[in-house]
Amino acid sequence: MATIETVTGPVDAGELGTTLIHEHLRTRDEAVHEQWPHAKASGGIPEREHPGDGHAAALEVATAAVELGVRTICDPTAMFLGRDVSFMRDVSERTGLQVVPCTGIYTYDHLPPFFVSRDADAIADLFCADIEQGIQGTEIKAAFLKCAADEPGVTENIEKVHRAAARASVRTGAPIMAHSRPASDTGPRQVEIFLEEGVDPAKVQVAHTGDTDDLDYIERLLQTGVWIGLDRYGLEMYLPFDRRQATAKALLERGYADRIFLSADSCGTIDWFEQAAIEQMLAAGMAKDWDIRIVHEQVLPELREAGMTDDQVEQIFVRNPVAWLAG
Ligand SMILES: [Zn+2]
Repeated sequence: MATIETVTGPVDAGELGTTLIHEHLRTRDEAVHEQWPHAKASGGIPEREHPGDGHAAALEVATAAVELGVRTICDPTAMFLGRDVSFMRDVSERTGLQVVPCTGIYTYDHLPPFFVSRDADAIADLFCADIEQGIQGTEIKAAFLKCAADEPGVTENIEKVHRAAARASVRTGAPIMAHSRPASDTGPRQVEIFLEEGVDPAKVQVAHTGDTDDLDYIERLLQTGVWIGLDRYGLEMYLPFDRRQATAKALLERGYADRIFLSADSCGTIDWFEQAAIEQMLAAGMAKDWDIRIVHEQVLPELREAGMTDDQVEQIFVRNPVAWLAG
């Protein structure tokens, strides 16, 4: 049986169990943290009671996930989101939550001169080293690749990162998770780049596709053979909960249970915003119950009520993660 890399070592694919495909234990700006280590997160959403290094909050959300029956998360915390696999391993060892780490670059356009001056193959070499040798001087290996396109679209820099991820995928067989922005129509172009590079579409997951409820857009992506993430439950500012659910129901009815993931893109802590801004965002309803618990506490009960079967649940949370990661 295939094995899948986690922060505590490789596990048999059959040991993955119930998996949330897109959750972050901690998100922070690594450059700010490196230069001003005293500048702690002013708070996370919703772990505002745990300012600091995010450790307590990460333990709390990991424990909560385990208590809800989650055995594994894929944590797409890449470069620029503060990836720290030693931190992730510590949280995993203390809570028993299996954590699947990634390699990649999370940027909407900016790249440091180091990468501006290098080509996609040189970047792919770094990604491959994380996959084949280990991350940050550890023996922890990346199980998937992460890249992103957002409001600026697929700029020259973004295309380079996508081609680097694609080439690393072709070289190693690792799958790709691509952050997308449906409102900017990024998904189709992202997929096009991967296909141009010879990536098997069954290894590509277009994250945040659930930020739209335009079923034509979604089905056009699905027809290319990729996976899609309905993975931002609780982030009302991109699409309200009820419209996310309507999309999920429609896709289940149309037979796409074997192509979709349900997750929240939650962050144990995130340092992107000042406390006052977080309070304002919550008061304005931009995020609601945005938390690692939301899928099991709110999404699934309602979908089951609407006819989602046990087999579909097993498909989405157990079989799909294995098929994407190890297929
Ligand atoms: Zn994310």
